[in-house]
Amino acid sequence: MQKCRLCHHPVIPFLSFGRLPLPEELRLPSERHLPLRRYPLGLATCSQCHHVQLTQKVRPDTIYKQHYHYDCSLTATNYWLALAKSFARSFENSRPLVVDIGSNTGLLLHHFRRLGCRVLGIDPSPLARAASRRRRLPLINKYFSPQLAQRILTREGPAQLITCTNTFDHVSSLTQFTRGLTCLLHPQGTCLIEVPYFLSFIKDLNHVVYHQQIDYCLLTPLIPFFARHGLQLHSAETTSIHGGSLRLTLGHQPSPLSQTTKKLLAQERRLFHRWPQVLRRFSRLLLARHQTFRHRLLSLINQGKSVAAIAASAKGITILNYCHLDYRHIQFITEASPTKIGRFTPSGIPIVSDRYLLKHPPDVALLLAFNFAAEILPRLKSFTARGGRIILP
Ligand SMILES: [Zn+2]
Repeated sequence: MQKCRLCHHPVIPFLSFGRLPLPEELRLPSERHLPLRRYPLGLATCSQCHHVQLTQKVRPDTIYKQHYHYDCSLTATNYWLALAKSFARSFENSRPLVVDIGSNTGLLLHHFRRLGCRVLGIDPSPLARAASRRRRLPLINKYFSPQLAQRILTREGPAQLITCTNTFDHVSSLTQFTRGLTCLLHPQGTCLIEVPYFLSFIKDLNHVVYHQQIDYCLLTPLIPFFARHGLQLHSAETTSIHGGSLRLTLGHQPSPLSQTTKKLLAQERRLFHRWPQVLRRFSRLLLARHQTFRHRLLSLINQGKSVAAIAASAKGITILNYCHLDYRHIQFITEASPTKIGRFTPSGIPIVSDRYLLKHPPDVALLLAFNFAAEILPRLKSFTARGGRIILP
């Protein structure tokens, strides 16, 4: 029986999408004939602490060393600058060490460095390696672990700030990862963890279950988990990124809980009283929403409309995969990231550059990066001005 990733009690599966290919297994034209592996995708909740997690995780090397293309510097760029500025103000010593785990293309560290911090990125992906050369940012191109934390501690000293944005919920062993955080963090330092918030997902259905994200976090189960590994919660708040995220700050010393944190805990407590019903309703609404989306799109195609998509994000491709929409329905997907252009999605849809949309405008464009719609829609004015229609999944 599967055990909870936080407390090791048995988990109860409550939602299944069947077996789907990895959304970022984006193939070169020469690889299109190769067989496609499919992996189960579903959610389970812990019978003890309520933590929500995938029913089965994919080996990290398969995702991060072979099929990983996410580039954080293409969206929400101002968000990372604001985050760096808000922390840089609070540092007391002159050249604090900031370590970003899951540093991706290094955008957050780039801002911290400009604000006078010593920086170090940790990320196992080839994408991070290439970006660190380009930006000349120090990077350890490995998975974070207690052993690696000890090595950094010996060489660089403790970190005044450790950031893990959209990373903690992707790691293979939460226990090993958190032991590493405790080891590397300065006695008065801060660890910042940001994860998509499952409560926002339940309320707005504005997020996606996909293979890369293993944990769908709530605040209540995380507090005792971190405390067992020597990290105490200092603050918790919600932020707008990724359809609604939870931002936690943690440190070695206990701190009284703020009113915001207490409010979040009270909201979760109310839901836990009727947790099985909450999850049943969430699953039903999510599956129904996919059905509606599929019907809406097929009806447009049946009316003779041509359809293309915008942004070949892992979440967006997962939605197409759930809904069995492939190259027969979607003509192409436009994308800004050069590592994706020229490849094909697992269901055979060609990925082309953003410019292609205006050269070959379809009747309908499907905005797959729907959680960044506010940022992307203004860039599509020339398409809509010519009569193009945009729909969100
Ligand atoms: Zn648990």
